[in-house]
Parts: sequence; structure tokens; C-alpha cells
Amino acid sequence: MNKPLRILFATPEAVPFAKTGGLADVAGALPKFLHPLGCEVILVMPYYRMVKRSGFPLQYLGEEIEVPLGDETLRAEVYQGYLDKNIPVYFIGRDEFFDREYLYSTPKGDYFDNAERFVFFTRAVLHLARHIQFSPDVIHHHEWQTGLIPAYLKSIYGNDPLFGRTATVFTIHNIAYQGLFKKEKLSLTGLPPEMYNPEGIEFWERINLMKAGIVYGDAINTVSQKYSEEIQNPEYGYGLEGILRKRRKDLYGILNGVDYQDWDPSHDPHLIARYDLNDLSGKKECKKDLLKEYGLPLSLEKAPLLGMISRLADQKGFDLLAEIIDELFTFDIGFVLLGTGEQKYHDLFSRIAQKYPQKAGIRIAYDDRLAHKIEAGADLFLMPSKYEPCGLNQIYSLKYGTIPVVRATGGLDDTITHFDPSTGIGNGFKFARYDSKDFLNQIKTAMGLYAQPERWTKLIRNAMASDFSWQRSAEAYLQLYRKALEKKRGTS
Ligand code: ADP
Repeated sequence: MNKPLRILFATPEAVPFAKTGGLADVAGALPKFLHPLGCEVILVMPYYRMVKRSGFPLQYLGEEIEVPLGDETLRAEVYQGYLDKNIPVYFIGRDEFFDREYLYSTPKGDYFDNAERFVFFTRAVLHLARHIQFSPDVIHHHEWQTGLIPAYLKSIYGNDPLFGRTATVFTIHNIAYQGLFKKEKLSLTGLPPEMYNPEGIEFWERINLMKAGIVYGDAINTVSQKYSEEIQNPEYGYGLEGILRKRRKDLYGILNGVDYQDWDPSHDPHLIARYDLNDLSGKKECKKDLLKEYGLPLSLEKAPLLGMISRLADQKGFDLLAEIIDELFTFDIGFVLLGTGEQKYHDLFSRIAQKYPQKAGIRIAYDDRLAHKIEAGADLFLMPSKYEPCGLNQIYSLKYGTIPVVRATGGLDDTITHFDPSTGIGNGFKFARYDSKDFLNQIKTAMGLYAQPERWTKLIRNAMASDFSWQRSAEAYLQLYRKALEKKRGTS
């Protein structure tokens, strides 16, 4: 019998407390599915302004912990809440670093002191574990913001009995964001200077926090099998492909699951009408409601409605969309977009809204309620991403019978099977080359099928029957934790 594993999740964001992207969904859901598999899980994340103002009942733990940063020792306040009743969440508070409008960057760019903020957070995670005497079997840490954890366990904290048996699992959700800082920032970390070399955390004369997670972690994974292969090549690896190839024996791909408690049209509280596989009629109501929400004419009810929900970033393929948008609007379609991000895309979509007021609904905002309404009310969901580690929106779309048109990359490729009308197999449409004509062709193919109600309904049913629940992924993570522990035992 395997004994229960004690897992410490170190994450820069988690639903429902603070979110900028898919990582928050993962950190907020996976622990809940690990618990029934016999894991004891705690989460540690920063106490952002967003958390402070969230209204969640959090308890101040009373004492501050001391956290070394460079030559100084700073204090952190600790708050505690729960993900659900079995999973405590500890929040590391220090207003100077976390009481800000955004998490990592403003629309103008990254916060100037992100190194200080997240080196502080990372060390605070370890000092919190000491403070509450939580001796983890595994620290499962996420993204560059926590990348240094295994570097610390292999150096400064190497002799701490609390972490004597602790293995690390590092999850890369997006390799394009690496936490790159000037080499002078090395002194902030307190790590031994020997770690600053090309086999360690140096990256072209800078420090790279994500690289630390890759180099020193016991096991590494990304959020889809395809992405774990792609990032070993220069096109996708953003300079870390070499080091990833070196570690490929310890590099895994585990697809994110979906929390169907939150994302299921049969019980989604945000929708005007509910629907499921057996009765799709509610989806039509949701479409009308969505058109109203965007102030679009109800005459679009019969036309295919194309939806997008996204961070407005280059990664998401908006340049392809920009190239085809005028041609797209020559068709009888509606288009709704929800997103925030880079200013150039705010401008692009404002222009589109002005040019096509009868067809295009644009909302530059972050709005969870509206995201649910789009998933339900749209007919097609567009994700022409340049790269996509996993992607969640296409998986939500499947559940809502909103057919994804995606580029075959990363998790998009792993979750979407191209629909073949002759066999009736498939749950969406895919194109391989990063090319706007191919994208447009697939939208046209989808629209052609939309005009054939029987086939379209078959496709909707296929999509809604696709299952990407967390259960399966949580089991895969459990196996990964055990592999990391074996690795740790073999090497320590
Ligand atoms: P990424 O993590 O690269 O942003 P994912 O598809 O993995 O992309 O996850 C994005 C998550 O963030 C989804 O849950 C999506 O619904 C949500 N999201 C993104 N932009 C918005 C927005 N403007 N409003 C509401 N939710 C959003």
C-alpha cells in the first residue's frame, strides 16, 4: 500500500483567488482531484491586492515570518484560506510587493521589480513550510515565478531535514515567459555563485528563473504531450530547447483537465438557459442572450457566430485574424471577442468594432461571467495560436458544443480531432501551418457544415461527448510525483 503523499503546491496564481490565465485554473482544480487519490495538499501563493479585495474569508495567522532577500531579512505576513475544506491555502503578504493593481505586468510592461517580488515569494514558500512544520514529499511548483525552488533545495536548504526527502516537480505552463533578469540580481537570490553558469541558471549573461526549475528539478512537465515535444525544438523552445533535450528523460506531458463543476452548460449559473447532450434547445437561447449582451442585431441568430476569449498577446495568433478579418466579414457571420492585453490589439479590435458595428461585438475586459456566455452562445470558437501549451478555452468550448477551429499545436492538437463528415468522427477543425489562408479555409469549412444542420448537430454531439475531466490528469500527476520521488532517492 502506498502511503499518502504530502504535496506542497507553490503557485503564483490560483482560482478563485487570483488569475491571469490557465495556470490559475490548474492550481485551483488539480489539488481538489489529488485529495481523493490520497494526497495531502497545501497551496502557497502571494497575497495580491486582488486576493485582499476578493472578500474570501481569510485568516491572518498572527505571526510574521522572516524571509531573506539579498542582504536583508524581510518580513512576510501569512494569511490562510481554503480551496475547499480539505485544502488549506497560505498567502504570503507583503504590501510593498503584492498590493498592486496587476499580478506581473501592466499594459505597458512588466513590473520593474519582478525579480525581487518572486525571489521573495519563492523563499517565503520554504520558510512558511518551516514555520508550519510541513515536510513535503513533493513540492509541485509552477512557472518561472517559483522556478528557483529546486535550486534552493539543492543548495541553501540542502541540509534542512524538513526537505530531506522532498522531491520537486516543475510544471511549465508557458515557456515564453522565463523570468529573465540582469545577472546582478543573482545576489538577491542568495544562491551560490557556482550555480551561475550555462549548465545552471545563467542564460546568455542573465539569470533565468525558469531554467533553474528545468536544470535542478527532479521531474519536469508541460501541460500537453505535444508541447513537451515542441519545446525541445528552437521554434518553440525560446532558447531553452537544448537544456530541455538534455533533460528529456525527466520531461513529461500531462494534459490539463477541466473543472466541469465550473464549466458545464447543464448547470452553469451564468447562462440564461441550460442545455445538455440530450436537449440542445437552450443553446439557441444562449446565442440570443449573447447577441443582446453585445448589442448585436438578433437577425444574426441564424448566422454562424464566431467567438474568441483570450489574452490579447502575439502567441494567440491575432496577426492571422487581422489578415483575414475583412474577408471574413464579407460572409453572413457574427463575431464576438472578449479579451485584454497588449495595447496594439486593443486598438485593432476598436477599429474592427467601428468598421463592422452590425457584425462585430468587442469587449476589452476580463469578465468571467461573459466568458461563460460566449462559450455557450457562440457556434464556433477560434484559436489560431502560434503556440498553445494546453489551452483551456477549446476544451470548455467542446463541452458547450461550440466547435473549435484551431491551429494544430500543443494542447490544441492533442484535444481536437479534425471532423471528417464521411465517418462522422471528430470534434473540431484544425490547420497545421501558421498561415492565415489555411485558417480562413478551415473557418469556411466549418461554416459550410454549419449550413447542414444534421451534420452540424452530429459534430456538436461529438464535441460535447469529449471528456477531459481532471480525474485522469490527476492520476497522471500522482504517477509523476512517484517518479520524482524515485529520482530523488536515486540521486540523493
Ligand atoms: P492562457 O493561459 O494562455 O491565457 P488558456 O486557454 O490556457 O490560455 O486559459 C485561459 C483562461 O483564462 C481560460 O479560463 C479563459 O476563459 C480565461 N480568460 C482569458 N481571457 C479572459 C477574459 N478576458 N475574460 C475572462 N476570462 C478570460
